[in-house]
Amino acid sequence: MEKFPTREEAVEKGSSSFEKKNRAWESAKKKLRILATVGMMSVPWAGWAGLETLKALDCMEPDEYIELVEKDRELNEEEERDLAEKLNYLVDEYDTRVLKILERSSEKAKESKEGEAPEIEGFEIFGISNKDLGDLWNEENYPKGTLKGNIEKIKFVVASEKISSYGYYHGEAEAAGKAESSTNELTLMGSSETLEESEKKIKGNLDWHFSHELGHLNDWDAAQNLSLEERAEFLYEVTQALNKPDSFRDALGYLDSFKGSGAGFKYKKTSEYWGILCEYYFTFPEILAEHAKEYTLVEKWIKRMDKDFDPVKARDRRKETLKEL
Ligand SMILES: [Zn+2]
Repeated sequence: MEKFPTREEAVEKGSSSFEKKNRAWESAKKKLRILATVGMMSVPWAGWAGLETLKALDCMEPDEYIELVEKDRELNEEEERDLAEKLNYLVDEYDTRVLKILERSSEKAKESKEGEAPEIEGFEIFGISNKDLGDLWNEENYPKGTLKGNIEKIKFVVASEKISSYGYYHGEAEAAGKAESSTNELTLMGSSETLEESEKKIKGNLDWHFSHELGHLNDWDAAQNLSLEERAEFLYEVTQALNKPDSFRDALGYLDSFKGSGAGFKYKKTSEYWGILCEYYFTFPEILAEHAKEYTLVEKWIKRMDKDFDPVKARDRRKETLKEL
């Protein structure tokens, strides 16, 4: 995309916009490091529904998947070959159970309710009105289709969970939020002993954490408004983006703190990768824009029902609203 040069292109041109982006990146890294050092930072994570389901699910072969896709739309030979290639890639990367996850998501989405804004509850513990949060978490500030009819509930609960207790994650961070694709609920968390600290944490990191979890609830598994064909394409593209040698990494090394092997681990890492891409797209759009491929990938899927959405303007609007909370 012309609009977003890669780091190399920008350096080559010696453009001042690169200098500006670079400064934004350095200052964001500094901010994140400070939050981590003073213990105010905890890291968002996705619910493990996908992974648990993966363990319990049966297999599904690419041929069977293609047959189901063709119930909705007849594919020509080239399209069928293209889809088969993607499905085989997914089966190689994970295993045949991953196709079953996508089929299950598609079936579940057919039952979803239309167009309702999410319920918001539990934030009054910090003196923040749940109603006021509706001014922050709405489809002016996030792309159309990502909240209404897609997220059922946004809530705060008093809870403390070490991310490492769920496996794969090798770090000290506590979970600050979770996204549950089975219920389409987005939860932000803080522990009762440290509620005062949680208050700072919640307010200080609200935009960052919420955007990450919103990403999870808009992935290939949780999003309501995707066809079976699109789900496979979506997961294929995110997996490919993660696998490319110079793929984007978060400033804190969160993604690389996941270590393990096997289909479950890979699936979890890909799912976190998508959460991180959304987190940066919404909260630090200038930084992600330096990575043209990842930026375009997020835009393709997150803006598919709202082509005019502008992440920089939306982030600036949210900043203003947050100041007033
Ligand atoms: Zn996550």
